[in-house]
Amino acid sequence: MSPSLVSVTPPEGVKTAELTASAVAQKIEVAAHLQPLDASKLRFTKTSNPMTVPLPGDPIINTSSQCTDHMITAVWKAATGWEAPELRPYGTLSIAPTASVLHYATECFEGLKMYRGYDGKLRLFRPDCNCKRMLVSSTRISLPAFDPAELEKLLIALVATDGPKWLPSSRPGTSLYLRPTMIGSAAALGVASPKEATLFIIATFMPNLTQPKGLKLLASQNGVRAWPGGFGYAKLGANYGPSLMANTEAVSRGYHQVLWLLNGMVTEAGASNFFVVWKTKEGNNQLVTAPLGDKIILDGITRRSILQLARERLSNNKSGVEPLEIVERQYTMNELAEAVQEKRVVEAFAAGTAFFVSPVAVISYKDEELQIPMVRGDSGEYAHLIKTWLMNIMYGKEAHEWGVVVKEIEE
Ligand SMILES: *Cc1c(COP(=O)(O)O)cnc(C)c1O
Repeated sequence: MSPSLVSVTPPEGVKTAELTASAVAQKIEVAAHLQPLDASKLRFTKTSNPMTVPLPGDPIINTSSQCTDHMITAVWKAATGWEAPELRPYGTLSIAPTASVLHYATECFEGLKMYRGYDGKLRLFRPDCNCKRMLVSSTRISLPAFDPAELEKLLIALVATDGPKWLPSSRPGTSLYLRPTMIGSAAALGVASPKEATLFIIATFMPNLTQPKGLKLLASQNGVRAWPGGFGYAKLGANYGPSLMANTEAVSRGYHQVLWLLNGMVTEAGASNFFVVWKTKEGNNQLVTAPLGDKIILDGITRRSILQLARERLSNNKSGVEPLEIVERQYTMNELAEAVQEKRVVEAFAAGTAFFVSPVAVISYKDEELQIPMVRGDSGEYAHLIKTWLMNIMYGKEAHEWGVVVKEIEE
């Protein structure tokens, strides 16, 4: 039998330079006798012990531990492929002490949100991008391939089931976090690609992470997050555990996040992408962010959405602000520090699903505190505009193909 190929076609308008496009370039060979991941086989077992939805302001929300009534699981075995996925009551997973993930960090994950719109509808934001990125991550860590479109259908099934109760239409403008995860669950201690994997999707409450006075970042002086030839571009658990020490140090010194440098180059802020608006020495106004080509940074869905909106709406006179050149390039912390000192920095912000668009107020670099302007008090002008545009799409104030409406399952 000839192997069938799972190939992923790039969405309209996505440039091949973008990293999720490397999932596109990747043609994942799946032996024809193996079962593919198939959302149409999803089995439903509803909970008989429904939980209580916490009210806004309940302290449990800030613990990021409250999940919804259900989760989705699917098991893959090297010999047979994907078993039928299940939607079942949220609960603990049973795993052998020899499981690959517990020893070799064979794990990858995604993070996206479901949004309750002001029009009462439930939406996801570009879930196809998250599902494709998960394929990039799973193959990087020797976990199995799958058709991203099937993962998206599973996500939608969980949102359709738990969304109506957990994100009620009486609370427009709120969101819940979705965490698709894959782990090497094979019970075998050998250092080898796991022969069994478990995919699961859970939904949780997440605290509001925005800082009203802006983020304070500590530029990393010793320690890097990612390196050439490594795996910084993949959403692997292995990228995060080792970064917690630097984060703890930053927090103990009064900062919110680490600004990760690599050989002096600015890469990312914590688990978000990082943007600067500055005037070049030549007097050009630019929005600058680190590039994807060297595979050091994560290809954020927020990042790519900001770049696209900025190219459409900020590189011309359409938005009533000074137009910007949109630039993806390597730049150094010294360049940024010099621009701050010469008062050429207009603003800076971090961007990601969890932190959304978070204006940056301070960057500590070599024991100096660089003050970043926030002309609106709580934000710069550009971050404010971008945040408004994205929120309008997420919460249904602007009809846009990125806002995917989920049809809810009524009880
Ligand atoms: C998840 C993540 C981001 C942001 O990605 P989004 O898709 O925008 O949420 C940025 N950097 C790192 C390191 C991340 O883990």
